[in-house]
Amino acid sequence: MIRKVIPHAEYAHIGGSGTWCDDFPENIGFEGVKILDTDMEFETPFGTTVAMKLFEISADVTADHKPHVVLDMPFHGWFGLSPYLDTPSERAFWVLKEAGVKWIIADGSGGGINPLLDPGDVIIPDDLIDQTKRVSYISKFTDKIVRMRDIVCPDLAAILYNEALKEYPRVFGRGTYAVDEAPRFETKAEIQRLYDQHCDICGHTMMPEAALARAIGACYAAIYLVSNTAEGINPDWKRPIFDLYAECADKFGRIVLRTLAAIDPSKKECRCKDYLMEVPGRVQERMNAK
Ligand SMILES: [Zn+2]
Repeated sequence: MIRKVIPHAEYAHIGGSGTWCDDFPENIGFEGVKILDTDMEFETPFGTTVAMKLFEISADVTADHKPHVVLDMPFHGWFGLSPYLDTPSERAFWVLKEAGVKWIIADGSGGGINPLLDPGDVIIPDDLIDQTKRVSYISKFTDKIVRMRDIVCPDLAAILYNEALKEYPRVFGRGTYAVDEAPRFETKAEIQRLYDQHCDICGHTMMPEAALARAIGACYAAIYLVSNTAEGINPDWKRPIFDLYAECADKFGRIVLRTLAAIDPSKKECRCKDYLMEVPGRVQERMNAK
């Protein structure tokens, strides 16, 4: 249902294949969540969003003893929308910007390029290479220059890593994510090239999310299940990826909620916001004159 007013929220969860097989956040075994609203669609300059939820993590379980209000969207805000033709990420981030979101956790899955990664492992990348050819709408979100230094917030990534270790024996706390164009997977030759470029995992969603998060001044980190081996590097995978999604949904849901609860804004040490560069006035005037 279309909502006229975007609620205020400082936290957001961008759901993906890590959590899509369960009813997040109600049904994953985490005490302290209260649903505030559901089925919230919003009109944006890019079109109507998917239906989002709004929930609150109780002050009883948060690190700063304050309630954390979280905007939550399923499957990267893509449902029924083409990530290239319909700009669903831009629709979603428009709402996050208007809501005042400062902290974003995303989840997903990807193909393991690094030979050390097995299906069922978990990785929290610290960098990315964007291989997509999509149009960039970053300038619709900020008039500042977006640096991509430490594009994954080290504060959030550290919390995610600690929480992931409570659910998984093998968690990798850094790595490079190659962003390819959905919905197809990569060829063997494409994966060999990504391997040569030191990419560890490939997937479809980390961009434009990471750049848009920076553009709206929010910290962003994402956690991925290795759902399969990338083509040609490791032996072909044996188990259907959807079986792994069904198994990981509760665990990923708890990791996400515990991470959102563990964020304490007063303990923030990252410099994410410093990497948005102001354009000097004279340059801005010349840009505006064109
Ligand atoms: Zn940060």
